Amino acid sequence: MIADVAFDAPVDHPFSYRVPAGWSLAAGQRVLAPLGGARRVGLVVAVRDGDDPGLKPLLALAETAPALGAAGLDLARWIAAESLSSLGSTSAALLPPVDPGAARAVAAALPSRDARAPARGVSTARPAGGGPAPGGAASGVELLVGAGRERRLLDRVAQAPSALVIVPDVEAAARWAQRLGKHRAVLRLDSGVPDGERAEAWARLRDGGVAVGTRSALLAPLAPDALLALVDEHEAAHKPPGPPRIHSRDVVLERAQRERRRALLTAATPSVELWWRAGERGGVAMTPPAPGPWPAVTIADTRGILRREPLTPPLARTVRETLAAGRRVLLLVSRLASSLACDECGEIVRCPQCALALVYTRAAATLSCRLCGTTLPLPDTCVHCQGRRLSPFGWGLERVEHAVRRRFPKARVARWDPEASRGAKGEAQRAAAAAAEIVIGTRGALRLFGPASLGLAGFVSPDQLLRLPDFRAGERMFALLWAAAERVGAHGSLVIQSQNPGHYALDAVARQELAAFYRAELKFRGELGYPPFRRLALVTVTGGERRLADEIVAALRASTRLTVYPPIAERRERARRIVVKGHADLSAALATALEDFRGPRPRSRGIIDVEVDPVEWPS
Ligand SMILES: [Zn+2]
Ligand SMILES: [Zn+2]
Repeated sequence: MIADVAFDAPVDHPFSYRVPAGWSLAAGQRVLAPLGGARRVGLVVAVRDGDDPGLKPLLALAETAPALGAAGLDLARWIAAESLSSLGSTSAALLPPVDPGAARAVAAALPSRDARAPARGVSTARPAGGGPAPGGAASGVELLVGAGRERRLLDRVAQAPSALVIVPDVEAAARWAQRLGKHRAVLRLDSGVPDGERAEAWARLRDGGVAVGTRSALLAPLAPDALLALVDEHEAAHKPPGPPRIHSRDVVLERAQRERRRALLTAATPSVELWWRAGERGGVAMTPPAPGPWPAVTIADTRGILRREPLTPPLARTVRETLAAGRRVLLLVSRLASSLACDECGEIVRCPQCALALVYTRAAATLSCRLCGTTLPLPDTCVHCQGRRLSPFGWGLERVEHAVRRRFPKARVARWDPEASRGAKGEAQRAAAAAAEIVIGTRGALRLFGPASLGLAGFVSPDQLLRLPDFRAGERMFALLWAAAERVGAHGSLVIQSQNPGHYALDAVARQELAAFYRAELKFRGELGYPPFRRLALVTVTGGERRLADEIVAALRASTRLTVYPPIAERRERARRIVVKGHADLSAALATALEDFRGPRPRSRGIIDVEVDPVEWPS
C-alpha cells in the first residue's frame, strides 16, 4: 500500500510513502514520516494500492484513529482551496496537536500485529463523524442579535443533544465553558487546556456531548444531531493570522450546509456580509431583535471647535454627574490615523475612485490611496466647505489623560491600552484600570466591563476610526459604539463627540436600530463594489526580483474574472501589494491565475502571500 501524506508546508502536493506491512491506515489519520532528513507529522490524505520499492516507508502512526473522517477531510480541502493554503498547513492549524509520547507508544505497539488481529484502536479506525445527518434532520442557519442573544444561545445549547460552540479566543472559551458547565459537562477543544485533554475531547465529541473551542475546533467530528454555534460572529479574532486565512463564519456556514446541520451565530453587530445573507440573499434566518436596555445617547458636534480641550461641555458635564452618582466612566480614544480631515466641517479627504480615506505622508507632502494606488498632491481647501484647515489632527491617549486629570483632580484615573501593554507592566495597568473611576482606553479596554456595568461611555473622537483607509471603517466605528452602548445599559449615558454628527452609524446607535446602519452601509458598498457585492484579495510579493510583481500583475490581468489594481510599494519598497477584486469565485480565479507562481520557489524569486477577504485593511 502507498499513503499520500500532506505536511505543514506551503506546497500543494502530498508526498508518497510505503505503508509498512501489517499497518492499517486510513485517510484523515496522522503519521510520522521522513521529510527532508527529519521526522515530521503529516496527514494521510489517501491510501491506495501499489508497490513502489523506491518509496521510503512511514515511520509511525501519530494517532490510533483518524482525526478526520471523509467529510472532515473534504471540508479541509475546501478550506484550503478557499484560502489558497496548502491542505497540510490547513490541517496542522485545525487539528489538535499530536502528542509525541503517544506517537511513540502507538509505534511500539505495531510490530506484533498481523492483518487478521490488528491492535485495538487501529483497525477500528472508522470514518470520524461529520457525515450528513441521517434521515434529513432539521437544518438551518439562524442569526441571533439584540438583547439576550447569549442567553438564547445558552438555552439552545443546553437543550441540544450535542453541540460545538466556537468562540473568538481562549479567554472566551474559558468563560463559555464555565457558563455551559452549569448545565452539563463541557469538553474543551482550545489551547487553554493540556494537549492530551484536548485530543481526548476531539475523539469523544463524535459520540455526543457539548464542546467549546476556538477556530482550531472547526473540523471536530460531531454527532449527526449536533448543533454548530459561533459566538460573536463579527469579531476579527475569528480570522487570526497564519494559514488557513479564512473566517470561522465562512467555515461554519459551509459546514452547516454540507452536513445539513443546524447552526446558530450570535453578534451584537453582525458583519455586513452576514447581515446581507440574512436579508437579501437568504439562507440565514434572523428574528428581529427585541429592544433591550439602552443608554441616553448624546451626540456632541465638534465641527470647527478649537483643539485645546478634548472634552466638550456635554461630555465634561456627564462625567461629573456620573462620578457624583458613584458610577464608572470609560472614555474611548482611538489610535491616530494618518489621514487628513477638515477642521471646519469634518470632511475626510478621500480617494475620488475608491472613497477610502487617503493616507497622508508628511515627508513627501502627498496623499495616497491604499487600494488603487493613486497619489495626489495636498489640496489647499476642503472640497465640501472650502475651509482652509486640513489636518491629520486627533487626540491621543496621553493628551486625553492629561486633560482629564487636570479637570477631575480627585478622581481615580487610569489609562488602559491592552494592545500596547503586555507582560507585568500590562497586568499592573489592567489592575489599575479595573479599580479606576475613570478609565481612558482604546477599544480593547471595553473588555474590562460587563453588560450594563458602566455609568458613562464617552467617545472623544471616533472620527479617527472613520479616517482609517479601510472600506470597513464605518462598520468598525458602528460596532464599537454599539458595544459601548451595551456596556452602559439603561441607566447611563453614551456621549459621542464627532465632527461627523450626521453619520448614519451614529444615528443608528442613537436610535438603537441595527437595520438603519446596514441599509446605508450596503448602499455604499454596492455603489463602490465592495464586499459583500464583490470580493477582495491582497497579493503581497516580498523580496525577489523587481519584475516578479509585474509578472504576477500580468498573470492576474489575463483573467477575465479579476479586476487588478497597480502594485503599491510596502515596507520601504521591500514588498509590493496588489489589490484584486473578483466575484464569488475569487479563490478559484486567483488559484488559476497564480498557478505558475505558487508552490516552492527559490528564495531569490521571492515570497508570494495571498489573503482572500481581508478583515483588516493594511494601513
Ligand atoms: Zn470642510
Ligand atoms: Zn483609490
